[in-house]
Amino acid sequence: MPSPAPSPQADHTAACLYCAQSTEYPLDHPGTVLCPVCEWQEAQRCACSG
Ligand SMILES: [Zn+2]
Repeated sequence: MPSPAPSPQADHTAACLYCAQSTEYPLDHPGTVLCPVCEWQEAQRCACSG
């Protein structure tokens, strides 16, 4: 019987703080971890200020 391997990649990547989507960042990534979608939305908000 082969040992069960649920999803090794998902276990080593941090989840987005906003939508909980899996990101490409490691679990020990410093700072705010956001998925590409939330990062884009944040960039749009910042672009609107000023
Ligand atoms: Zn997100």
